[in-house]
Amino acid sequence: RHAPVITIDGPSGSGKGTVCRLLAETLGWHLLDSGAIYRVLAIAAMHHDFEPSDEDSLVALATDLDVEFHANEETGLTHVILEGEDITMTIRTEQVGNDASKIAALPRVREALLRRQRGFREMPGLVADGRDMGTVVFPDAEAKIFLTASAEERAQRRFQQLQEKGFDANIDELVNEIKDRDDRDMNRSVAPLKPAEDSLFLDSTDLSIDEVVAKVLQFAHKKL
Ligand code: C5P
Repeated sequence: RHAPVITIDGPSGSGKGTVCRLLAETLGWHLLDSGAIYRVLAIAAMHHDFEPSDEDSLVALATDLDVEFHANEETGLTHVILEGEDITMTIRTEQVGNDASKIAALPRVREALLRRQRGFREMPGLVADGRDMGTVVFPDAEAKIFLTASAEERAQRRFQQLQEKGFDANIDELVNEIKDRDDRDMNRSVAPLKPAEDSLFLDSTDLSIDEVVAKVLQFAHKKL
């Protein structure tokens, strides 16, 4: 028997990251932050001076990507190590997120990352966070959730997050960037962001993180 999976897909800023971390902690399950993999790849591509149009080089890079994720219990942070270098903070910038979404539109790059992502499915279970976890990477997942929120609310949350981390941000720019990124993620030809047919649709605009976690747990318990 394989390990059970809960997938949470949705646009950036929907609260997925925090919700998935809390779920994994509560259940004692593994966590896959698939967006982090695309972000790491974007940074690796930058180190190598590869353009987003250079698909062959990016596929090779994705296949051999030397990345490790280390959970730090004390800080609650998952440290991201690329070729021995700690890039935990660098991968979180808006610039890297935007670069990642350009690279993520390349079909062969996505395919090259499939096996790595599926490798996270281990006992006792996995919480998978992304755009295509329920539709492409784990189509047989036990419980699938699509989590979203209005663009304005998501920009507001991102603004706060960035400020807390000491980054400078402009709210209008964030709304525009979020809309551009949504556009790219939803309209790409391969693995576009959309709810899986059998997913629970959750709008978190007027919900607290705890309320979202409670709803997801309730849904998952029925499915597992
Ligand atoms: O979720 P996060 O903002 O870290 O993801 C960065 C980008 O990586 C997204 O905008 C999306 O284009 C891409 N991504 C993806 N598929 C995933 C996770 C992330 O295409 N499963």
